[in-house]
Amino acid sequence: MAKRTRIIEGTWNCTSCDARGILARHKRCPTCNNPRELTGQESEFDFGDVDAESGKSLREGVTDEKVLEIAAAGEDWFCAYCGAATRGDSPRCKHCGAERTPDAKKATPQDLARDEARLPPEVPPKPPAKKKRWMTGVVVAVFLGIIAFAVWANSTRELQGEVTGTQWERAVVQERFSLVAKTGWEDQLRRVSARMPVNGTGEVAGVANVRDCVSRQRGTRRVADGTERVCRTKSRRVACGTEEKCRRRDKGNGFAEEVCEDVTKYCNESYEDCQNETRYRNEPVYAQQCTYDTYEWKPLDRREEKGHDDAPRWPTLAVGAQDRQRREEKYAVHIRYQAKGAQEHVHQPTNERDFLTWRKGQGVVLTVTNLGKVEKVVPR
Ligand SMILES: [Zn+2]
Ligand SMILES: [Zn+2]
Repeated sequence: MAKRTRIIEGTWNCTSCDARGILARHKRCPTCNNPRELTGQESEFDFGDVDAESGKSLREGVTDEKVLEIAAAGEDWFCAYCGAATRGDSPRCKHCGAERTPDAKKATPQDLARDEARLPPEVPPKPPAKKKRWMTGVVVAVFLGIIAFAVWANSTRELQGEVTGTQWERAVVQERFSLVAKTGWEDQLRRVSARMPVNGTGEVAGVANVRDCVSRQRGTRRVADGTERVCRTKSRRVACGTEEKCRRRDKGNGFAEEVCEDVTKYCNESYEDCQNETRYRNEPVYAQQCTYDTYEWKPLDRREEKGHDDAPRWPTLAVGAQDRQRREEKYAVHIRYQAKGAQEHVHQPTNERDFLTWRKGQGVVLTVTNLGKVEKVVPR
């Protein structure tokens, strides 16, 4: 692509008389006639602002032939004797006439790319996460509070109590191996002969007399049901014409060379992304469901006994050949103790041996947490 070159003339400020905005073509101040020097910021040129988008200088380019010749003379040098700025192609100081010596200082070109980079940042900086830090403090405080509470709540102390009464409940349940009709899926029913129990054990439930099979829905399965076109709106970068971009280079003598060119510009474009996707539907699955005969234990009779004494007894029940008996027992020991007023705790022994260690009027040591939960009871 075609490049367009311009020469931009900078300006300087005289530190001897305070004259401002002196064009770079003047190596002496037009007001006080003092030469421009390397020191005192007289050699820091102002090249004006640039367009934020393109980086193009807002100043007019130089067209005057004589001035263009000054710009093309190369980097200035500064006289070792008087410090005056002199054209790069001149072998003698225009101010004092001294020859250029190896110790004459050279101009230091300015970095103008820095000015061109004055584009707005693409992502605005995130605001500092002050709120998050505040939240973290609260979370830590709550967490420490929970730990402290858990330690306090699980701390225990020992209290004295007394047994105020005991109670036992016993039951005998008589069950009979009885014929029942059930339903099942035909492919899962394997015919097995039933066997009756002897003294309550050794029975086989059996599967017999499979009948009345009907077709029933057993479940569902997912099946492909054609395809459908699904479209989503997406975004992509595309070339959309050209835009001008410019760079400047300091020539070291108060002039800058600007090169502009047209580069491809990219824009966001939305488009439809369409694909064929498989559609599914649920299809019912059918199977044969049948009625069959089998046996199961069914409760036939139940006898209960209870008392407040310390001699638990089993109720008696007559047993048939195809019967079995199941025993149930439940014990309770009522304990009274003092903790923020009179409290009652019910201890539930799981067997007769544990139950018989408790007597009415007996002393008890209770282990109680700060929350009031009884963890352990032992006879005193
Ligand atoms: Zn001056
Ligand atoms: Zn000189």
